[in-house]
Amino acid sequence: MKIMSVNSGSSSIKFQLFIMPEEKVISKGQVEKIGFDDAICTLRYNGEVYKKVLPIKDHAVGVKMIIDGLIEHKVLKSMDEIKGVGHRIVQGGEIFKKSELIDKRVLDDIISLSDMAPLHNPAHATAIKAFKKIMPNVPHVAVFDTTFHQTMAEDAYMYAVPYFWYSKYGVRKYGAHGTSHKYVSEETNKLLSRENTKVIVCHIGNGASISAVKDGRCVDTSMGFTPLDGIPMGTRSGSLDPAILNFMENKLNIGTDEMYEILNKKSGYLGVSELTSDARDLEAAIDKGNKKAKLAFDLQAKRIADYIGSYYVYMGGLDALCFTAGIGENSPRLRKLVLDRLSVLGVKYDEKLNNENKLVISTNESKVKVFVIRTDEEVMIARDTMKFIK
Ligand code: AMP
Repeated sequence: MKIMSVNSGSSSIKFQLFIMPEEKVISKGQVEKIGFDDAICTLRYNGEVYKKVLPIKDHAVGVKMIIDGLIEHKVLKSMDEIKGVGHRIVQGGEIFKKSELIDKRVLDDIISLSDMAPLHNPAHATAIKAFKKIMPNVPHVAVFDTTFHQTMAEDAYMYAVPYFWYSKYGVRKYGAHGTSHKYVSEETNKLLSRENTKVIVCHIGNGASISAVKDGRCVDTSMGFTPLDGIPMGTRSGSLDPAILNFMENKLNIGTDEMYEILNKKSGYLGVSELTSDARDLEAAIDKGNKKAKLAFDLQAKRIADYIGSYYVYMGGLDALCFTAGIGENSPRLRKLVLDRLSVLGVKYDEKLNNENKLVISTNESKVKVFVIRTDEEVMIARDTMKFIK
């Protein structure tokens, strides 16, 4: 059966079309710049890339372009071949503890969480409405980035602030990248051939987060109320002393909105290196002796190691450490910087295996297995969607 996995933003819709349960991707693509006269529709199939630039006024037109493209290029004979659509949703708050079939109540609840994910949830809702209008007779399933983290205990998800901030306004840690953390920790358990495991997943991409997963359930994660928290990222600062906000707002004569813009978009690698948010460019600069680029990488590696140490203590040990996402999967340098700090935990790795981005990079003597695992959020969405198809 064919299932579509969808990741939509305010001006884009990305999709992958799977054959399930084989989990084979037969086509993928995206519509970008929705709302513009020069929107771009890209479709990949059988090694070919088909691209069109044309006006796409809204998400509904974008969805139609995708379906028409799949039929035009003979990926599908008709739309009816798609038996379900899974939608990635960034924020599920405390309402959603698992993936859900999207009905009016679920859609309303997704919209009700918009103030916690203003850039994402409204855009997801717009795309869901567009898909449901064009494909009303198949199940549409919401798969949330936050549900995997809903198993955290109070001592992990609460902040030490007045309690009513939580009870009245929902201020707590929700985490993000949950679908990736779930996928990678499940793959890890398969590699370990058991379920009762203590695993740390380092999802290090442009956005970056770490999670502690005990017996397949998330017990802590580094992103917080929003994805700004935790370790430094491509452009995000990660956690910092909150007193800095007011201090620097006064020094720079700026308001809180501009401060958040700086912490979200101009910090992290970009802020420290004053050069780039991209890890590859940062590494090229380090090779040329750029000290600030090196500091940006070192800062992040130190903070990743800090989290690993803290989760080691919280879980009472560690069976496996996994690196995933753009940098985690592809940067031996970043992994080395982190792993060299972990010898106290009995972590030993093989330089050659690390340099080759192999699946297992720990040595046989290592007390902790170290894996490099390619994440696959789309297949998780397709898997969850399949469960709702009768
Ligand atoms: P993601 O957000 O998971 O797509 O990851 C994006 C980040 O991965 C960017 O900073 C890229 O520079 C980085 N990245 C991708 N490929 C490599 C590579 N071969 N070496 C180092 N970093 C990489």
